[in-house]
Amino acid sequence: MSFTLAIVGRPNVGKSTLFNRLVGKRLALVDDQPGVTRDLREGEARLGDLRFTVIDTAGLEEATDESLQGRMRRLTERAVEMADVCLFVIDARTGVTPTDEVFAEILRKKSAHVLLAANKAEGRAGESGLLEAYSLGLGEPLALSAEHGEGMADLLQALIPLA
Ligand code: GDP
Ligand code: MG
Repeated sequence: MSFTLAIVGRPNVGKSTLFNRLVGKRLALVDDQPGVTRDLREGEARLGDLRFTVIDTAGLEEATDESLQGRMRRLTERAVEMADVCLFVIDARTGVTPTDEVFAEILRKKSAHVLLAANKAEGRAGESGLLEAYSLGLGEPLALSAEHGEGMADLLQALIPLA
């Protein structure tokens, strides 16, 4: 059985970088799919022996009339509905921000399975942010570097029980 993973989190934490790493060149195919909105990109991910659907939540970066918080809530709730599991990403270099805390609250209220990741964790600059992530109440954070491909084995281990 396959599953759907939604990558959620505030702008600039590295969601799309992780999406691209998981999906690679197969994205070109899904871009043309009907029903794929600009705000949610869907692709077929490969990680180790796992194959699953991954959703990248975007659309928070653009300036519109709708508030960032309103869009965050709407997009995150939609992604949660579509997904079997959410990967909530924070920036390990920045640490936990007030916006991250709003996301965490939305995700804690939804009953979907949530995994927490602290991205940009390569090197030592992410160490304190990784520790801060525990305060979100979403369990043990995975230390990832989407850009450098670090932590992918840990992500795989966390996803295997869900497959
Ligand atoms: P999104 O807005 O959450 O989709 O974030 P992006 O994937 O667009 O990445 C935002 C910025 O963070 C870009 O400049 C990326 O190159 C950078 N970035 C993403 N992943 C990493 C990482 O693992 N380490 C570092 N140092 N930078 C990263
Ligand atoms: Mg993005």
